[in-house]
Amino acid sequence: MPAFSIPNMQYKIFVVIAFSFATLHITAQKRSENIVVVTLDGMRWQDVFTGADSLLTYDTMATYSEKYVQENFWAASGAERRKKLMPFIWSEISAKGIILGNRAYGNYINTANPHWFSYPGYNEIITGFPDTTVNSNDKNLNKNENVFELMNRLPAFKGKTAVFGSWDLFSYMFNEKRSGVYVNDGFKKVEGKLSKRQSMLNELQSEMPDLFHGAERLDVATFYLGLDYMKLNKPRLMYFGLGDTDEFAHAGDYDSYLDAARKADKWISQLWQYIQSEPFYANKTTLLITTDHGRGQASGANWRHHGKGTPGSGEIWFAAIGPSVPASGEVKTKAQNFQGQIAATIAAMLGQSFNPTHKPMAPLSFRPGAASGEIPNR
Ligand SMILES: [Zn+2]
Repeated sequence: MPAFSIPNMQYKIFVVIAFSFATLHITAQKRSENIVVVTLDGMRWQDVFTGADSLLTYDTMATYSEKYVQENFWAASGAERRKKLMPFIWSEISAKGIILGNRAYGNYINTANPHWFSYPGYNEIITGFPDTTVNSNDKNLNKNENVFELMNRLPAFKGKTAVFGSWDLFSYMFNEKRSGVYVNDGFKKVEGKLSKRQSMLNELQSEMPDLFHGAERLDVATFYLGLDYMKLNKPRLMYFGLGDTDEFAHAGDYDSYLDAARKADKWISQLWQYIQSEPFYANKTTLLITTDHGRGQASGANWRHHGKGTPGSGEIWFAAIGPSVPASGEVKTKAQNFQGQIAATIAAMLGQSFNPTHKPMAPLSFRPGAASGEIPNR
């Protein structure tokens, strides 16, 4: 049982209070001028909501250092552990933003696609279309139009969309050539106007240990190359695709996976600090954070894996902060939302319509008790 579960009566009272607050917030919901998306590949909702998993922290058969996990990430309650793992999410975002997907409260968010791995997940996030035919991680150019691409067609966003990804598939998933969205992925160097740090990282990114065998650089390079790109070019739609969490999980390195998640949280905190300190972005930018897929349960070695053969790996989470989301914190009401609602949410936050050639899923509603998302016919 999770340490922060609450008795039924209190729960009911909470729902009533939460609902009244949320109703107040709807009128306050504002349009954003800019959107920043951060994804942590294959980050489990279990760890986001309860921190280091006891079954993995005290696993004597583990290949990773349990001692390191215990010393750095363990605490008696899930509420303390999650704060150790992702302090920014569980302070700033839980106070001023919204966090969806704590299944302990029946608040569900899932992939609508049935594949539960990366390309289908990213396709669903950016196109709003859980296309069942997107079913491999091969370097196929995405035939579906994405929300960055459609915004990039509008004069206000033209040349103001950018993607920085660790994995070298992002340029295919966003179909860089067709979409006109600028994509820096894999070990690509940033060109043009550069910061000192970018010049350094352009060289260092391929000198760092090549842990993921050529397809993926370390997130530290992706993040700072992207952050400095934001500072120099002021994109209005920005995407950071981080990948370390998934790679370390596949390797069975729970210690490094947790480290990667904590670093990502720190970078998100830096990113938010920058956004709120820069007049171009401050108070008019909404930051969305999510994942492409979940992973299996802690028991056995299932947490390492995901995909059709791993039950539960279509279960995800979502967090956001900024003018377009209510300060609901961790949502504790029953709901079923889907990853495919994020694309239309981005357009709606910008006050734009989203009409790709396919039928995208409806935007997320941040109002408790709102109709849950429905998977369209496909
Ligand atoms: Zn994976």
